[in-house]
Amino acid sequence: MKVFKFGGASISNMDRIAQAGDILKTYGGQKILVVVSAMGKTTNSLEKVAEAFYNGQQDEALTLFEAIKKNFLTLANYLLVKGYNDAYAQALDIFTEVEWLLHDRPVRSFDYYYDQIVCSGELLSSIVVSAYFNEAGIRNTWVDVRDILRTDNRFRDASIDWLFTQEKINTAFIPLFDVSDIVITQGFIGATAENESSTLGREGSDYSAAVFANMLQASELTIWKDVAGVMSADPREFPQATAIPHLSYEEVIEMAYYGAQVIHPKTIKPLQNKNIPLQVKCFLDRELPGTLISDQQTPDLPPIIVIKRNQALISLHTLDFSFAGEKPIAALYRLLAGAHMQPNLLQTGAIRIEICVDDKDDKIEKLALAASTIFDVQVERGLSLLTIRHYREDSIAQLTDGKKIRLRQQTPKTAQLVLAD
Ligand code: ADP
Ligand code: ASP
Ligand code: MG
Repeated sequence: MKVFKFGGASISNMDRIAQAGDILKTYGGQKILVVVSAMGKTTNSLEKVAEAFYNGQQDEALTLFEAIKKNFLTLANYLLVKGYNDAYAQALDIFTEVEWLLHDRPVRSFDYYYDQIVCSGELLSSIVVSAYFNEAGIRNTWVDVRDILRTDNRFRDASIDWLFTQEKINTAFIPLFDVSDIVITQGFIGATAENESSTLGREGSDYSAAVFANMLQASELTIWKDVAGVMSADPREFPQATAIPHLSYEEVIEMAYYGAQVIHPKTIKPLQNKNIPLQVKCFLDRELPGTLISDQQTPDLPPIIVIKRNQALISLHTLDFSFAGEKPIAALYRLLAGAHMQPNLLQTGAIRIEICVDDKDDKIEKLALAASTIFDVQVERGLSLLTIRHYREDSIAQLTDGKKIRLRQQTPKTAQLVLAD
């Protein structure tokens, strides 16, 4: 059994959906679970629907959703012939789920509504992809992942109930492969015990695919991307970046954690835990070798550059010149845990602690306020965190040229710098 994941870019238009079909045809006779994301930038558009709805702009939310519906139906109409009516009926259920909600007034949290609305992106894309594949002779079964993948109710950042989901996979999912070799489902979304939709965090469908690979004991997971593989930097910013043929799980988890968008950081653990290889392949040219990620260590790697933007540096100074010892640090970690914040970098001194964190929502204000009873707190925003694995001194100099270095940490393998423009 293999698991394939097609992301937003790989199914963003008709030609690309057809191309995904061509890829699958070359694997004829093999059992493959196909996990898809929402098409193109649909998730961003759905986020706007959720925001308008929650801000009380009901008409605006309905108009924005109508545009998403229209795009979807136009695409389905062009792509499908025989399968159109069935796909339309299936999509109508999804539209109705969302529109029912948009006609109400918000009484629960934003995150709850976000998940109920945003999950429709993956449902719709999987419906059209499944219908198109069936029409193209790639017989497949479509599954609403919300019947299989159970999560807790931390909306927008839900955690998977592994026991329940594994049981469902064994009893309700694996038997579907007796009906057809290909099963199609959604990444990024799941459902709570109360049957409410939940999402696993932005870009989370790589992670869903890895969870399925783990639970299905798959022989490999292949993630199809619009790049030649995992590269030495984001090719959008560094055109000279090169694809790296082999990487270890450890290398990739480090890259992803510090911001390499190509793979969601949570993807690696479920694969490493069962030693399942991960292939990152280019859907634009499937002859390219791509990148194989496994437990094999890879010596002689080039410098690998990762940039995480939208960082804030929080500088904490003890109020009365007492040491920033175990008690203040323990108190700070309690505050971080309470705010669900992970420091990307942390540096301690005699009376100072510096932490670099993602600047998300209003978490920093809340943390700064809470920490101000123990520390004098200063916050600098709009920074970026540069990570260079396998660095050379000249690569650091080049990449920091003209920037102000706010914090620097270096091990023999990795250099990390917090930079201001
Ligand atoms: P998906 O279609 O699965 O959502 P993404 O757009 O999230 O794919 O991820 C692919 C993008 O990741 C590429 O287009 C590329 O610009 C970016 N990227 C960032 N860092 C890297 C890297 N080190 N190697 C390859 N791609 C990278
Ligand atoms: N569609 C979701 C997002 O854009 C999940 C994903 O693409 O992985 O975040
Ligand atoms: Mg993505």
